Amino acid sequence: MPGKQVIVVGSGNAAMSAGIAALEAGADVLMLEKAGPDLAGGNTKYTAGAMRIAYETSDALLPLLANRNDPRLPHTDFGTYPAQKFADDLLGFNEGRPLSPEQRVLVSASYEAVRWLAGHGVTYEPIYSRQSFEKDGRHIFWGGLTLAAENEGVGLFDMERSAFEHLGGRIRYSAGVTGLLTKGDKVTGVRVGDEAISADAIILACGGFEASEAMRVARMGPAWAAAKVRGTPHNTGDGLHMAFELGAAQYGSFKGCHATPMDLHMRDFGNLDLPPKERKNYRKICYFLGVMLNARGERFVDEGINFRNYTYAQFGRAVLEQPGHIAWQVFDAKVTDLLYAEYSFRDASFVEADTLEDLARKLDGVDTAAALSTLQDFNAAVDDAPPFDPTVLDGKRTHGLALDKTNWAQRLDTPPFRAFPVTGGITFTYGGLKVDEAGGVIKEDGTPIAGLFACGELVGGVFFGGYPGGSGLTSGTVFGRRAGQGAAS
Ligand SMILES: Cc1cc2nc3c(=O)[nH]c(=O)nc-3n(C[C@H](O)[C@H](O)[C@H](O)COP(=O)(O)OP(=O)(O)OC[C@H]3O[C@@H](n4cnc5c(N)ncnc54)[C@H](O)[C@@H]3O)c2cc1C
Repeated sequence: MPGKQVIVVGSGNAAMSAGIAALEAGADVLMLEKAGPDLAGGNTKYTAGAMRIAYETSDALLPLLANRNDPRLPHTDFGTYPAQKFADDLLGFNEGRPLSPEQRVLVSASYEAVRWLAGHGVTYEPIYSRQSFEKDGRHIFWGGLTLAAENEGVGLFDMERSAFEHLGGRIRYSAGVTGLLTKGDKVTGVRVGDEAISADAIILACGGFEASEAMRVARMGPAWAAAKVRGTPHNTGDGLHMAFELGAAQYGSFKGCHATPMDLHMRDFGNLDLPPKERKNYRKICYFLGVMLNARGERFVDEGINFRNYTYAQFGRAVLEQPGHIAWQVFDAKVTDLLYAEYSFRDASFVEADTLEDLARKLDGVDTAAALSTLQDFNAAVDDAPPFDPTVLDGKRTHGLALDKTNWAQRLDTPPFRAFPVTGGITFTYGGLKVDEAGGVIKEDGTPIAGLFACGELVGGVFFGGYPGGSGLTSGTVFGRRAGQGAAS
């Protein structure tokens, strides 16, 4: 019997995972991508390739590694990241909700999904530069996130595309899907402009609505007009619109999104034109080593409330909600060596001074007197007793401030002082479609839309008030694989 004809809309990690799974199950798969070959791969290509997975022992990571002879491995402590810890991390952002069915699936299928990709030639490497610190000659990983695809997001896309094409999958670029074809209650194909293409099943894997200013404002509020878009310009909610037209349920948190502090002067959209090692350099996520001030000269978050994996995706929103949508990140010279490369990037915006008084005067758009007083109060409130240790929640904190910093609080006392202006950058949106166990799209009345499947960013119910770093790609693979199997069966 000939295999089912499956169309996958989009070509990011979720689409590739769905496409590979559908091909494995015997389907004939055509992938339709709105972008040309340069921007195909969507947000996936902009990522660091980091994938969060549950693992009981560090031995479970070894079969995934590209280079098992890396001389650092014998001196590396990956720790463990049991499923319960992954679940607890998600629960910590659920604003009182229990784990959603989608979150339970994400946790329980995370390791197996990444291993499955490895079986298709995707290789991984430990994230030494951003997820470990050296201590007593050992590389100590922290934050539950250890591996990234080799050569980051571009590498992930290349390895997945190669697996997809090796299995017989076809890709058409510059082929944005503009509508769904239906016959009775069933989806029977797609429109690409004037062209109609029939299929037995359609998998929507065409991202969220982060790149649509109109949708951001409508769903999330006026402040989101100002957000920089960190990734592709093409994720404009097309899949959501098409599914809602057919009565698909709106599911999850439409006010929620992943948003990160970014260089105030970066341009909109990501930077695939930069060399790979420079693409992340407009991100500014080392605030946990210093403090952040808004235009009123006030701190507005506990910069050290947790490891930055658990705060960076929320603090972009916090910045965007400040007056003028800006903040300044302030550091002293003690932490210069710990700041990521993005802070010494040739295009990094910053001001520098030898005294806090001079630095406060240089903070454009900030109340100088209030900023100086905040920095002085902060310094006076630092507890000198606990030693500073960025590999653990060190409890080195301030006491008595209206808003204390509860870890890694060191006095700002060593010149030169540097301050970096930031705004909020949106990464991806959380609200989306409801899917069943086979990845089928569910209507408001609880019944499935025959022939329509979904995965990736446009699946709702996976993230609510926040995001443990590296979960988006894993979610794309977990739900993409299910949708591919569902569509092919
Ligand atoms: C800068 C940045 C860094 C990130 N780092 C990480 C990380 O390290 N780890 C992690 O887990 N997550 C990370 N993320 C989040 C991650 O990118 C997403 O969670 C994930 O890539 C989404 O995969 P996806 O396949 O759903 O969407 P995408 O990869 O965005 O793919 C969607 C595709 O659909 C296409 N498309 C849109 N509309 C249409 C249409 N009408 N017709 C046809 N095609 C269409 C788009 O062009 C795009 O190619 C990062 C995101 C960004 C922006």
